[in-house]
Amino acid sequence: MRYDVAIIGTGPGGVSAALTLKNRGKNFIIIGSKQSAKVSKAHAILNYPGLPNVSGQELANAFSKHLELAGIEITEDRVSTIYDMGDFFGIQGGNEMYEASAVILATGVVTGKAIPGEDALLGSGVSYCATCDAPLYKGKDVAVIGYSKKEEEEAAFLSEVCANVTYVPMYKEATDLPDKVKVVNVKPSEILKVDDKRVVKSDGEDIVVDCVFVLRDAISPGQLVPGLETDGAHVVVNRDMSTNIAGCFACGDITGLPYQYVKSAGEGNVAALSAVTYLAAKK
Ligand SMILES: Cc1cc2nc3c(=O)[nH]c(=O)nc-3n(C[C@H](O)[C@H](O)[C@H](O)COP(=O)(O)OP(=O)(O)OC[C@H]3O[C@@H](n4cnc5c(N)ncnc54)[C@H](O)[C@@H]3O)c2cc1C
Repeated sequence: MRYDVAIIGTGPGGVSAALTLKNRGKNFIIIGSKQSAKVSKAHAILNYPGLPNVSGQELANAFSKHLELAGIEITEDRVSTIYDMGDFFGIQGGNEMYEASAVILATGVVTGKAIPGEDALLGSGVSYCATCDAPLYKGKDVAVIGYSKKEEEEAAFLSEVCANVTYVPMYKEATDLPDKVKVVNVKPSEILKVDDKRVVKSDGEDIVVDCVFVLRDAISPGQLVPGLETDGAHVVVNRDMSTNIAGCFACGDITGLPYQYVKSAGEGNVAALSAVTYLAAKK
């Protein structure tokens, strides 16, 4: 099925875009986690209009309730790449490939830099998607650099397919992984290609594998959409939230400072209305 619009991200930007597209009767999909951690984890929010002194979890629940009342369901998946196919976009999720005539990027801002070597080797022994690429490494050795506890699920899945899985947690919580997965607490400094192997250099032992899975909550916009014009960690947008790629819009933290809920929600609304205008002009 080809959607009119695919929204990637479920923070205030994505939620606002979804509610607007619903009002405009569009056939759309919203992909991401059930709630944005940047919303649910905030201690106290004092500047969201109409909701004085609300906790992050309360605001996240209010967003979920609003989506539910509007009959909008989140498709829980992580998008690894969005391909501009000319007339439509091919959206590579962990579980499946989606198609849409327009996309709205609402994936938040990526903090932290790529590991040296990561960008250059992406697609060649470095992967962002365990579900997509696990079959390529059946019976081989892989490493997983996981930036949040939920990536342990991906490492457990890889351990069912691969010969050996080494897991590098980039967070402080204790890990809870199958015995088959070797946990190594090191700080990766570089990923290198040495012959047909990939080597994770660190402050500890070298990890020598066939593929390194780097699993973060968010992927830098330039990696997510090849050809997208970016300025550092941000997507360059026009006043109507359009980008340099026709049919690709962006909203929220991904477009730059200030990082604020209400700014993201406002831009989500603009991006959705601009996508509606784009679709009408295409007809
Ligand atoms: C602790 C904390 C407290 C804060 N307090 C305040 C405050 O009081 N007031 C205020 O205005 N702002 C506050 N902020 C800032 C606010 O959280 C952000 O500005 C806001 O959440 C940005 O919304 P967004 O929709 O752009 O992105 P986010 O809320 O970051 O949502 C992005 C979503 O996209 C998903 N996603 C990312 N990549 C992918 C992918 N490849 N595939 C699928 N899904 C993906 C993420 O999982 C996430 O659900 C706070 C932030 C933090 C961290």
